[in-house]
Amino acid sequence: MKMKICLMPGDGIGPEIVEQAVMVLDKVADKFGHTVEYTEALIGGVAIDATKNPLPDETVAKCKAADAVLLGAVGGPKWDTLPGDQRPEKGLLGIRKALGLFANLRPAKLFPELSKACFLRPDIVQDGIDVMVVRELTGGIYFGQPVGRDVRDGKRAAFNTMVYDEEEVRRIARLAFEAAMKREKRLCSVDKANVLEVSRLWREVVEEVAKEYPEVELSHMYVDNAAMQLVRNPNQFDVIVTGNLFGDILSDEAAVITGSIGMLPSASLGASGPGLYEPIHGSAPDIAGQNKANPLATILSIAMMLRYAFDLSKEAEVIETAVQKVLQEGYRTGDIMEEGKSLVGCNTMGNLVAERI
Ligand code: NAD
Repeated sequence: MKMKICLMPGDGIGPEIVEQAVMVLDKVADKFGHTVEYTEALIGGVAIDATKNPLPDETVAKCKAADAVLLGAVGGPKWDTLPGDQRPEKGLLGIRKALGLFANLRPAKLFPELSKACFLRPDIVQDGIDVMVVRELTGGIYFGQPVGRDVRDGKRAAFNTMVYDEEEVRRIARLAFEAAMKREKRLCSVDKANVLEVSRLWREVVEEVAKEYPEVELSHMYVDNAAMQLVRNPNQFDVIVTGNLFGDILSDEAAVITGSIGMLPSASLGASGPGLYEPIHGSAPDIAGQNKANPLATILSIAMMLRYAFDLSKEAEVIETAVQKVLQEGYRTGDIMEEGKSLVGCNTMGNLVAERI
């Protein structure tokens, strides 16, 4: 297969971790006989420095021309004093919009080797955690109209609107069912259908889409219960699908219980066109340029890219297995270091994974 990939290393540790991920991808491509063609584009602070714009038009064009996009991270203290619309983060929001990315896939995976870092009781996580949260990204209460303030009965009031139309629900539901088909074929749709009309429509449409996926076992759960169940017994879940607001909260909850921000990849997908693959962590300016960053979240983002953009599950598994082997052998970057393990830098960690492909 021929893959066209746009790289956006961005700021801080971005370039270091993207370099390691590219090395691993090259190794996988070589092993399986694929060819990878790279382009590189500016985003965030480095784009501001070069063009005064966190998302130059050229970057959008390069992303659109690719099959998939790999992002390092954006932001840092150097640009923190700029006005909101000129900040590095604006580049990230802009590229998500330009590529029409309406779904955010956030696996919260805890390798059993790192279970000591987890915030949950050892008996709950001895076999690790493996949950995927699929969050709707472009609708719901964050974007619904009308939004505003007025005065009601002489008191200041403010309002937002939670709204989804059936098509918005259908497309995210389909994507979540597809994700479940690539995993254990269990999908839990999270809503608040006991209270919210929006959730009742959500549930109705998810049930309709379920008919297209008879192999997937569908369940529904109220969001308050889901927040509890995630810490009580995260492994009861395979894939969770939910709206923007609930997904914002649950995906962070699922991530933080693993205790290892440097290990978590993500994918943002649209209806067609390239998806955006990136680690969930930021640009870590405190350790940038010191060969201390953990490149594994970015390397695992490549695995997601192979699985979701190119349908290459075997290649994805080879990467995930190589990462697990390196952890089993006791190698750790500083952020996941434990007593008795071998401390390595960003480059060595990348090399160790590549050697095990
Ligand atoms: P951060 O995720 O960059 O860092 C939080 C802490 O985790 C830091 O101590 C950092 O050293 C550590 N850390 C993060 N990733 C690591 C890795 N791969 N290896 C080892 N340690 C790692 O969050 P922050 O400090 O709140 O934000 C720093 C900058 O990143 C800010 O400018 C913020 O706006 C930006 N940010 C960008 C993104 C993104 O690009 N998607 C996401 C979050 C934050």
